[in-house]
Amino acid sequence: MEPAPLEPLSEDWSTALCVVAHPDDLEFGAAAAIARWTGQGKTVVYCMVTSGEAGIDGLHPDESRRIREAEQVESARIVGVEAVEFLGLPDGVVEYGVPLRAVIAEVVRRNRPDIVITGNFRDTFGGRNLNQADHIAVGKAVLDAVRDAGNRWIFSEQLDGNLEPWGGVKEVWAAGSPAATHGVDTTDTFAAGVESLKAHAAYIDGLGWENWDPAEFLEGFARATGQRMGVAFATSFEVFPMGWGD
Ligand SMILES: [Zn+2]
Repeated sequence: MEPAPLEPLSEDWSTALCVVAHPDDLEFGAAAAIARWTGQGKTVVYCMVTSGEAGIDGLHPDESRRIREAEQVESARIVGVEAVEFLGLPDGVVEYGVPLRAVIAEVVRRNRPDIVITGNFRDTFGGRNLNQADHIAVGKAVLDAVRDAGNRWIFSEQLDGNLEPWGGVKEVWAAGSPAATHGVDTTDTFAAGVESLKAHAAYIDGLGWENWDPAEFLEGFARATGQRMGVAFATSFEVFPMGWGD
């Protein structure tokens, strides 16, 4: 069976906030799309819920945190993203719930984005490849927190200072979802996406995958996704509209 065609994502927006569980989550596909958007003059901000400090088996979390944050800042810079925020929640044991929604709602209220981007939070990546617990918790909380951010009576203790409610997020996009409906042509920015993944050198090294080539790996997905849009390379997103009746 032919995979379903993907509709092009809207590019009629100016600011996006990306909220993901770990450093490297955006670099496994979304970064090439982000490079395209920053190249169009859009502003994109990254927010990492954890610092991925439990991600390198041979490295203590204290050391790993420092290295992974630095790698993430560099990989963001490569795709035109200047601002990277780390929320400092504990890697590997992020819990979906009200406290997580609160911290993410606060980030949404501060940044006031048009679009919020997160990673796939379905149970699998398609087929039988199970998703990871932090990804599922964060993605679900992002959807809720975007709504919370617009309601002044939810987490109202955040609104004592200069912060206002923000109900201006039009859509939430989940990158790499098996239920993706939309895509972005990344043919011209694919190389920047590869460089952005390569910036996670200590992490990739720590995985110990012999002869693993980031370019080859990303190309396989980008080419298959591109075929669903009639372009050479693309990246896919599941779209969640945040308004009513549209
Ligand atoms: Zn991750």
